Amino acid sequence: MAGAFPTLLSPLDLGHTTLRNRVVMGSMHTKLEDRRRDLPKLAAFFAERAKGGTALIVTGGYAPTWRGWLLPFGSQMTTTTQAKAHRVVTDAVHRHDGRILLQVLHAGRYAYHPFSTAATGKKSPITPFKPRAMSTREVDRTATAFARAAALAKRAGYDGVEIMGSEGYLINQFLAGRTNDRTDAWGGSAAKRMRFPLEIVRRTRDLVGDDFIVQYRISLLDLVDDAQSWEETVELARGLQERGVSILNTGIGWHEARVPTIVTSVPPAAFAWVTGKLRREVDVPVIASNRINRPEIAEQILAAGDADLVSMARPLLADAEFVNKAASGRDREIITCIACNQACLDHTFSNKRATCMLNPRAGYETELVLLPTRTRKKIAVVGAGPAGLAAAVELAGRGHGVDLFEAADRIGGQFTLAARIPGKEDFAHTLAYYRHMIETRGVTLHLNTRVTADDLTDFDDVVVATGVTPRVPPIPGIDHPKVLTYQQVITSAQEKVGDRVAVIGAGGIGFDVAEFLLHEPGESTAHWMERWGVTDPERQRGGLATKVKAPPRREVHLLQRKASALGKGLGKTTGWVHRATLQDSGVQMVGGVEYVRVDDEGLHITVPVNPKDPKSPREARVLAVDTVVVCAGQESVRDLVAPLTAQGVDVHVIGGADVAAELDAKRAIKQATELAARL
Ligand code: NAP
Repeated sequence: MAGAFPTLLSPLDLGHTTLRNRVVMGSMHTKLEDRRRDLPKLAAFFAERAKGGTALIVTGGYAPTWRGWLLPFGSQMTTTTQAKAHRVVTDAVHRHDGRILLQVLHAGRYAYHPFSTAATGKKSPITPFKPRAMSTREVDRTATAFARAAALAKRAGYDGVEIMGSEGYLINQFLAGRTNDRTDAWGGSAAKRMRFPLEIVRRTRDLVGDDFIVQYRISLLDLVDDAQSWEETVELARGLQERGVSILNTGIGWHEARVPTIVTSVPPAAFAWVTGKLRREVDVPVIASNRINRPEIAEQILAAGDADLVSMARPLLADAEFVNKAASGRDREIITCIACNQACLDHTFSNKRATCMLNPRAGYETELVLLPTRTRKKIAVVGAGPAGLAAAVELAGRGHGVDLFEAADRIGGQFTLAARIPGKEDFAHTLAYYRHMIETRGVTLHLNTRVTADDLTDFDDVVVATGVTPRVPPIPGIDHPKVLTYQQVITSAQEKVGDRVAVIGAGGIGFDVAEFLLHEPGESTAHWMERWGVTDPERQRGGLATKVKAPPRREVHLLQRKASALGKGLGKTTGWVHRATLQDSGVQMVGGVEYVRVDDEGLHITVPVNPKDPKSPREARVLAVDTVVVCAGQESVRDLVAPLTAQGVDVHVIGGADVAAELDAKRAIKQATELAARL
């Protein structure tokens, strides 16, 4: 098992059991945890990951008491009946030689229900419910409830538990002064604030015995004010070790922190250094986490001695076979997580089942099945953007003969643009994956080929994935030389863009273009940390420092006609990062705009005098800009559909060619994969 990733693929002996390699699937809530009837689907989801080689899987969080639920009637592990129902999950993982831990999580003040309890009665900034402060006895009983949940997990066949001590949940709330001003035995000094997790681990170990993994997720960077000091963190880690913890997993940032910790623009392995810092202080194995999405990155962290194991959650949603592919020299076949969050965390936080934009089968293993075909068809796919690529590769994977036609000189469509945006460098992995799979699966690729309906008469089916064309809004002067489309700016015309720019349209692409005009790609971790105010926790409690803001490269005005806040339609878990980035770079964001004309003076607009009241009188303004970039959405390109239908061809329209409004790769790839499963 050596190959290119010798450390990653080496086993780890934990004494009573051995992990077959160093890959841990981190905890993620999929929405399959909460109801008993969904457990077989959860079992299939984890079984695929265990079959794919993952050594250790951690489930989504299960509350040790009903008050610790994340959501009303959320997942909990409090009775033997519940434990028995989990056999289907643990058996499924064990059949493939995997190990699985149940995560025990008490939401504390992050609970999204009115019965929440916490260290104090202080409401969190991210939930509407004010918790009730726990009584002294209640804290004691809750510590025991954690241990009981672990004992139930053992009965359910789990190989261990992960005790969730980070991300700002209850245990973390006890640990930090900002959320624990108690004066009883559970607060008042660092030692007393630490007592809650130490008691939980001691009681858990007592109850479950030695042959059970007790993993603890420790917050190494709280990234909030009035948080833990590094000395306290180390003292806690050593105390947990003394009380019998088997593994320490890394937690980075409370959910209420205003520092991004997992989105695409966070540099690869940006936090491995702090895990390395902990590793030097303890003897138990430690797990590095956050933005580790490729085997070579994982190998580097382990080989450098920063961790004993690596945790990946979203990368294993994207590709269940991550480990096996890395182990068999097929790492170019790995679908690399691009940390877009669009179908995983954005779903979870909208109360929808988590899946993956690049792998719509994730979480739907029993429902979206792509079996080898019995009748091989000859299929043409027109357009090699995300929809066409996914369709071609999946259809060929089922055994169909596929010809893929693309008018441009390369594959990728809108994704080639995304890959050039600073902070979205990982999108290039997706293009590399498709290029490789086209070859591996024998898709015949025709670049620089604009087909007509007459060219396609020989095919059994035609998939029209011809995508979109940028909308040109009917603004007087839109043909002025200072007006450029977003495609021109991103692909070829950056040098034509002046120092003062107006961006028409503030959707995903308007935001991307603003970032493109303001920042350089390939930002270093050190620079990223300065920009977001992340520092060594030995210097500042919680690792939070003042942001260092560089003078902006350009003056940018980002405009939209709607009166609502700009960026409202961006991803739930990513939009705030884009907004904060542009605000920090001094971008003027203006809503309620009416575009009057473009001329030599610049862009003429009117805006409401009172920005909060779109009906207030309007005033005229001239934005004296050198360049106007149009990011006003798109229109579908579907000229092939009518002539093909007239010729009686079986036509399937997918992606932006189907619906251009709010076009997105998530819908495109899902639609393509579902079509591929049907044809
Ligand atoms: P979009 O999200 O539909 O936004 C189009 C923008 O153009 C809106 O701000 C709209 O605002 C404006 N607009 C529409 N018609 C206009 C007209 N006739 N004149 C002037 N302005 C007009 O489209 P997009 O920005 O092109 O993005 C397309 C899709 O790509 C997104 O929906 C998203 O799924 C995906 N994408 C996502 C991300 C991401 O970060 N997740 C990044 C890039 C792209 P007003 O109508 O208010 O003026």
